[in-house]
Amino acid sequence: MEKNCIFCKIANKEIPAGIIYSDEEIIAFNDINPQAPVHIIIIPRKHIEKTSDITDADTKLVGKLVFAAQRLAKDKKISDSGYRLVFNCNKDAGQAVFHIHLHLLGGRRLSWPPG
Ligand code: 5GP
Ligand code: ZN
Repeated sequence: MEKNCIFCKIANKEIPAGIIYSDEEIIAFNDINPQAPVHIIIIPRKHIEKTSDITDADTKLVGKLVFAAQRLAKDKKISDSGYRLVFNCNKDAGQAVFHIHLHLLGGRRLSWPPG
């Protein structure tokens, strides 16, 4: 738990979010500013600032984020049409919240390459 971290606060229910999945290790909630019909943020409860800080001990946890995204995509019925999973890291990627999070985006055609 990092004192000034908005995603730690969501994980601890100190600030509200549209939580759609939660277990002892990870949480998923709707993005407050959705960029697609489905835009879900999946985070570990553990505060890790950015993907560059992931250690060998975290690999199973990070795998859980991807697995949760895969299941949520099926729940939201975007698995067959397609979806995108994104981790933004640091300035050039536009990382705004420094607690690692996986974006699950889908429900519309997404352009590539990203802007
Ligand atoms: P980043 O650019 O860091 O990868 O993305 C951060 C994401 O978190 C953005 O899509 C933003 O809309 C979302 N976000 C930021 N603050 C909040 C919040 O308080 N609640 C929710 N639900 N999403 C947030
Ligand atoms: Zn945090």
